[in-house]
Amino acid sequence: MELWVDVVNQALVFGALAISLNLVMGYLGYLSLAHAAFFGLGAYTMAVLTRTHEWPFVPATTVAVLASAVAGLVVALASLRMSGEYVVLMTLAVLSIGNQVARSWVDVTGGATGLFPIEPASLFGLSPQSVVAWVPVLSVVTAVILAVVWRLGESPYGRVLKAIRDDPRATSALGKRVVRFQFQVFAISAAMAGLVGALWGSYLEFVSPTSFGLDAAMLVAAIVVLGGTANPVGSVIAAAALISLPDILAKLDIGGDNAAPIRNVAYGVALILLVRYRPAGLLRESRHVGRLFGGAPPLPEAVAPGGDSVVSTPAGAGRRLGGRALSKRFGAIAALDDVDIELPEGQITALIGPNGAGKSTLFNVLTGDLRPDGGTVTLGELDLTGQPSYRTARAGVGRTFQDVRLFQTMSVFDNVVVAVPEQPGERLGPLFLAPARVRGGEDAARRIAAECLSFVRLDHLADRPVNDLAFGDQKLVALARLLAMGSTVMLLDEPSAGTDPGRVSMMLDVVRTLAGSGRTVCLVEHNLDVIRRLEGRAYFLDEGRIVAVDTVDHLMASPALVESYFGGPARERA
Ligand code: ADP
Ligand code: MG
Repeated sequence: MELWVDVVNQALVFGALAISLNLVMGYLGYLSLAHAAFFGLGAYTMAVLTRTHEWPFVPATTVAVLASAVAGLVVALASLRMSGEYVVLMTLAVLSIGNQVARSWVDVTGGATGLFPIEPASLFGLSPQSVVAWVPVLSVVTAVILAVVWRLGESPYGRVLKAIRDDPRATSALGKRVVRFQFQVFAISAAMAGLVGALWGSYLEFVSPTSFGLDAAMLVAAIVVLGGTANPVGSVIAAAALISLPDILAKLDIGGDNAAPIRNVAYGVALILLVRYRPAGLLRESRHVGRLFGGAPPLPEAVAPGGDSVVSTPAGAGRRLGGRALSKRFGAIAALDDVDIELPEGQITALIGPNGAGKSTLFNVLTGDLRPDGGTVTLGELDLTGQPSYRTARAGVGRTFQDVRLFQTMSVFDNVVVAVPEQPGERLGPLFLAPARVRGGEDAARRIAAECLSFVRLDHLADRPVNDLAFGDQKLVALARLLAMGSTVMLLDEPSAGTDPGRVSMMLDVVRTLAGSGRTVCLVEHNLDVIRRLEGRAYFLDEGRIVAVDTVDHLMASPALVESYFGGPARERA
């Protein structure tokens, strides 16, 4: 009996730890092995403060939680601009260092033997005196952690996390400050791991380095994978399954002493099979934010097809985007060389030129996706030079990418709704303190997204995973996503490439409507027929330099340019 109650407690502790890891691993997309170290840091901090310094449990645990949060921030700082594979290695190093410190700093940590006994936790003089008495305590803590992670993950906040997981660069281009989310998530998640660690140490009444090593890290990662990434409820179920497995095997009497090796082999085989055949876990994440246990949320009331409030003149329209003397080198290549460009409001400006001319680089520099080596970028009176892309996006500069860059694991609708700026549910304060405001903001954002989708005639695909869509439709989703930002400047990188004439016409209609509303529009275009249908001016870029600026009609009438661009195989350097 006592044994099974202990199994329940262990499952609660590792379930809670797995939920906290799932926030980082499932929603943000980083596999962290450092969570076992945060868990250990929480346990040791609590143990040292209560034993050596005779602090009461609650303040000691508070400090333990803060210490783990700080460690989480440090790991987040180290993981910036690091790809996922390196984050795994880096967090493995953190785990290894933490474990080594626990083993070597004998005066404080007790070295390999650890610290014991530890006073049981107490709150207002109440303290769980038996294994059974711990069940409600651990249940409440696990439930609270589950509720917090659920709120963070299944909300506008979690939608941004998933976008970051799928494509941080595109998320930043929507005006989301990616590093803020990364820091917050690592700190919150590590704090939770530290809290669970402190409770675990108190429950066992001892701490030792063996509890916080690679075994624990692997077990928690296995629980997350088994239960489903970005599925916190799945983590609890998987924890119950994996934690009770050894005892069930023991009960089944499979050769007594062989139970532990059999269990480890079973974990290993299960992990390999899962990662091979079901990398997102047994229980899938929901593709819709905001649902409760299944069922897609209803789309907002159908809007009139081609409803035009999303394309009405945005606040702050009527500002021109300008680049002066812009230069950008990649090693020996001058991708941009002293480029001057002026994009007037209310017009469509075309940017043309052969492959490799520097057109996409110019967009990247204008939007702050890349920092120019020299030159300035201005929006009206505003100096945007050197500003990161989330800032230029917030100032009103929106863009699409040549390689589309949709959020591949999200639905069409979520791809668009995530682009709506300034959603209250993307900030921690309102998310936990002002649920009504969050709900109101979400309704408004969903209406905007529905309108944008209807504008590009994709409402019927709203619920589909975006990677099910044909390439041409994906380009239209990218256009809808851009519309949802409500930007005053829209830079479109090859919006018609790889699509059929019907979609090209629709795209041109949308673009004309946008320019007609006073927006500043610039598009990179290769298709001669499309270029001829544009009325504005065109810049001709070659080898990083503007070689001609004129009306589209005049440029197209220049045989030399048309020849060099469309006819000269010698110029093809794709
Ligand atoms: P375009 O969009 O006109 O086809 P790009 O702006 O993509 O041209 O590229 C201009 C030049 O800069 C090309 O020679 C390309 O290879 C180079 N380039 C672009 N981005 C990078 C990068 N991130 N790193 C190195 N070279 C790059
Ligand atoms: Mg390009």
